[in-house]
Amino acid sequence: MKIEGRCRNCGRDFPIDLVLSPPEAAGRCPFCGKSLDPEYSALLVEALGKLQAIGSQMESILDRARAVGENLEINADTIVAPIRDALGAREEASASRRATREAAQAEQTGVR
Ligand SMILES: [Zn+2]
Repeated sequence: MKIEGRCRNCGRDFPIDLVLSPPEAAGRCPFCGKSLDPEYSALLVEALGKLQAIGSQMESILDRARAVGENLEINADTIVAPIRDALGAREEASASRRATREAAQAEQTGVR
C-alpha cells in the first residue's frame, strides 16, 4: 500500500514513504521542508510507518485469500467505513490543532 499525503503548508502531494526516512528528512515535507508536526514528529512518523505496513499486510492477506470462501460475501463497508471514519476524525483534529496554533501565532506577532 502506498499512502499519499498533502502538505498543509505548500499544498503538494507526496508518497508517505518520503517522510519516513532518512532520519534527517523524517517528518518533513519533501518539497518545502516544513515539519509536518513540530511537536509530535516522531509519533507521526511511527504511526505513518505502521499504517503503511499494516495496509500492505491487509492487501497481502486479501490477495492470498482471494479465492477462498466460496460461500461467503464480506461486506467491504465493515472494513472500509471504520478506517474512513478514523481518517476523517484525524483530518478534523489535526486541522483544528493547526488552526489553533496559527491563531496563537497571529496573536503573538499580530497588530496590537
Ligand atoms: Zn510542503
